[in-house]
Amino acid sequence: MKIALGGFSIESCTFSPLLTQEKDFRVLRGRQLLAAYPFLSSYGDVEFVPLIYARSLPGGPVEKSFYTRVKDEFLQGLRDQGTWEGVFLHMHGAVNVAGMDDAEGDFLAALREAVGPDCLIAASYDLHGNVSRRVMDCIDILSAYRTAPHVDGPETLERTCSLLVKSIRGKIRPHKAFIPVPILLPGEKTSTEWEPGASLYRLIPGEIKGDAVWDVSILIGYVWADEPRSSAAVVALGADKGEVRKAAVTLARRFWDVRREFQFGVTTASVDNCIEMAMSAAERPVVISDSGDNPTAGGAGDTPYVLERMLALGVADGVVAGIADPEAVSMCEAAGLGADVGFLLGGKLDPVHAKPLHVTGRVVSLHRQPWLVSHAGDSGVVNRIAVVDVQGIQVIVTERRTPFHRLADFLNLGIDPRRHKIVVVKIGYLEPELKTFAAKALLALSPGAVNQDITSLPFGRIQRPMYPFDPDMAWDPGDQSGL
Ligand SMILES: [Zn+2]
Repeated sequence: MKIALGGFSIESCTFSPLLTQEKDFRVLRGRQLLAAYPFLSSYGDVEFVPLIYARSLPGGPVEKSFYTRVKDEFLQGLRDQGTWEGVFLHMHGAVNVAGMDDAEGDFLAALREAVGPDCLIAASYDLHGNVSRRVMDCIDILSAYRTAPHVDGPETLERTCSLLVKSIRGKIRPHKAFIPVPILLPGEKTSTEWEPGASLYRLIPGEIKGDAVWDVSILIGYVWADEPRSSAAVVALGADKGEVRKAAVTLARRFWDVRREFQFGVTTASVDNCIEMAMSAAERPVVISDSGDNPTAGGAGDTPYVLERMLALGVADGVVAGIADPEAVSMCEAAGLGADVGFLLGGKLDPVHAKPLHVTGRVVSLHRQPWLVSHAGDSGVVNRIAVVDVQGIQVIVTERRTPFHRLADFLNLGIDPRRHKIVVVKIGYLEPELKTFAAKALLALSPGAVNQDITSLPFGRIQRPMYPFDPDMAWDPGDQSGL
């Protein structure tokens, strides 16, 4: 049994002016690609053939020429190596290629044409993927994460692969039910750690029924993509058409019924209010999410607005993690350790949502660290980082767009966030490790490409009606499963 392996993965915000280019991707091929999926060795008689996998941090739309090169290399690999029983894809599901709608639909349609109708195609998705009818027409198996924050990535990959192998071995092509659910909400309101997301996702195991229903997925979708396909969805797979349909309708209806209950999981307020609440809080540290510029949701990661407000409100002890600004890092390096510096910070990658802030401070430390791209390991690329003390606030300035999700991300820079009063992180909901030390968490409704005030965004191309844009709309999932 021969199965091709690869994929293309990024979450692309169409409200970001920052084009995602080849330099932003980590590309894996050959042994390196195979080694990223250690569980593949457990399928004794299956030969997995690594083709190409490209992954980037979330960002703006992808440069079309890069996407086309990756797709063409994948297709060439398929053509060069004979016939295939299967294709196993590691996708995100919210790629936007500049000037193109439904990039995954384009990718999968090309793959389907290359491998022919008999080959089975399976893809592992992020639950923030936007699934189109075209994707479902080209694919046989799609399974998505069941947790947000995502702690089941490897498990989802393994489950998807097992379904593919089961399908090929048993010579059974599963029935697929796909119900787009007209809901578009930010991930910060739809975590599986609190209600109603927690209860909704807990329904999944009960809908999976042996050979009848193999798998079901609930996809929240990705809201910061102004494309016709953007919406939530439910997907169900299995050998019993009626049961598959029933499972999909049950979950879609339940999702719809709880739509008004989705809410932010922590206290949410304006930037100024969050800073004031943090300053007067008894606890420390108070972690404030700079949610509008979260690079792991597609924000540029360079807006200095929260820092500007901290300085204006007189914060004397804080950490800002981080602001991407290669020029500023170079200036700090040129000035040297301990030097007094003054420069324009941030607002350059995303000039639409921010303007640079003039800061003066002292260079506390300089670093060169491996730049990590999630799920694709060490990129081998160096990320230069400067820590600058700006009136008592430790400002982390990075050469590359950099998430701060782990305690070690701070400790490696000589900063212990637990010792500071206010820690600002460009993130939405807190990743598990940040929660362990956040005595209190606040979510700031800050400006940026991934603004949480979604009904204020300039949408023009999503399907309407759509909740919450059309709050009083009626909808019923009854006859929309495609089965
Ligand atoms: Zn996600």
